[in-house]
Amino acid sequence: MVRSSEESGLWSLVFGLWSLVSAAGPDSGLFMDFMKSHSCYETIPTSSKVLLLDTKLKVKAAFVALVCNGLRAAPLWDSRRQHFVGMLTITDFINVLHCFYKSPRLCELERHRIDTWRGLAFQKVYLKNSHHRLISVSANSSLFEAVFLLLRFKIHRLPVVDPESGNVLHILTHKRLLKFLHLHLQTLPRPGFLDRSVLDLGIGTFSDLAVIRDSDRLISALTLFVQRRVSALPVVDQQGRVVGLYSRFDVINLAAQKSYSDLEVTMRETLRRRTCFIEGVIKCYPQERLETVLHRIVQEQVHRLVMVDSSDRVLGIVSLSDLLQALVLSPAGINALLP
Ligand code: ADP
Ligand code: ADP
Ligand code: AMP
Repeated sequence: MVRSSEESGLWSLVFGLWSLVSAAGPDSGLFMDFMKSHSCYETIPTSSKVLLLDTKLKVKAAFVALVCNGLRAAPLWDSRRQHFVGMLTITDFINVLHCFYKSPRLCELERHRIDTWRGLAFQKVYLKNSHHRLISVSANSSLFEAVFLLLRFKIHRLPVVDPESGNVLHILTHKRLLKFLHLHLQTLPRPGFLDRSVLDLGIGTFSDLAVIRDSDRLISALTLFVQRRVSALPVVDQQGRVVGLYSRFDVINLAAQKSYSDLEVTMRETLRRRTCFIEGVIKCYPQERLETVLHRIVQEQVHRLVMVDSSDRVLGIVSLSDLLQALVLSPAGINALLP
C-alpha cells in the first residue's frame, strides 16, 4: 500500500515547469487549492459495492465475477500473506487474452490462478512496468493526492481505504474526481483560462497518436493496448476519418459474450457486436473553450474526447488525465504524465 509519507521521494522527482502555470495566470491555482481542501471521504457514495478477489482464484472465475457484478476492477487479496497485492482490471483481462492468443499453452485461461498468472505476467511484457503492491489512498487524504497517485502511477482505479480498519471503502476514478470538481464549479471564482482553447493551453495529446483502422483485426487493437498502454483507440476509415471509439472497457464485452476466441474479426464488426456502448464518437474541436470541453466530458461521462478537424480527421485526444493534470497538478509544478 502506498501512503502519503512514502510518496515524498516521488514528489521531488516529478517537479518541473509546466506550461499552464505561466500560461493561465494568477488564478491558475484555484482548482488545485479546491482539491487540496477536500478529502476522499467526500467522494464516496452512500452505497457502493467493492468486490475483493483472493489470488488463489482461477483467472477465468475472477473475470466472470467482475462481469456478473457489473464491476470494472477488484483489489486482490493474498490470504497467505494477509495483505492486498494489487488490482485486477480490464487491462489484465486484455493481457490474458493477448497472451493466450500468442502462446495458448503457456497462458491457458483454465489453468492459471491469479497468483500464477501474475507471476508469469511480471516476467513478460504484460506487467513489466507494473506494481507489485496495491496503490491506494487513505479516505482522509486530499483529492489532490488521489489525482497525483492516479496520474503518477498511470492507473485508472484507486482504492480508498479506511485508515482505522484498512478496509477498502470505494474505488476512486478520474471520472468521479472531475465530476466532484465540476459540481462545485459554481461555488468557486471563475478563472479566466476557462475561456481559452484546450489547444492553446496545450491540454491533450496531439502527436504519436495510437489509432486503429476499421478494417484492422481486433487482435491488432489488443496488441496496441498492450504495447502502447493507451486507454482507448479512435477507429478510423480509409480516409483517416474517425468512425468509432474502442476503449479498454469495451473489451469486457468479449467476456460477457464469451467470444474471446474470435480475435481475427475486423474492428468494424467488433464495434457492431458491442452490446453496451455509446452511440457515435464524442468529439471536440481545436478552438473550443476549455469550459465547453469540461462540460461535455462530464456530461457525456466518458474518459476522453477525440479532437477532430472539420473533416472528422483525428487531431488529438483530450483525456480526463490531461484535464486533471492541467487543472490540479500543473499549478503545483508537477507533471505526472511524463513517460
Ligand atoms: P483499466 O483502465 O483497465 O481499469 P488500469 O489502467 O487501472 O486498468 O490498470 C493498469 C494496470 O495497473 C493493470 O495491470 C492493473 O492491475 C494495475 N493497477 C490498476 N490499479 C491499481 C492499483 N490501485 N494498485 C496496483 N495496481 C493497479
Ligand atoms: P471507463 O468508464 O472504464 O473509464 P470509458 O469512458 O473508456 O470507460 O468507456 C466507457 C464507454 O464509453 C465505452 O463503451 C467506450 O467505448 C465509450 N466511450 C468512451 N469515450 C468515448 C468517446 N469519446 N466517444 C464515444 N464513446 C466513448
Ligand atoms: P488516459 O490513459 O486516457 O487517462 O490518458 C493518459 C495519457 O495518454 C493522456 O495524456 C492521453 O492524452 C494519452 N492518450 C490516451 N489515449 C491515447 C491514444 N489513443 N494515443 C495517444 N495518446 C493517448
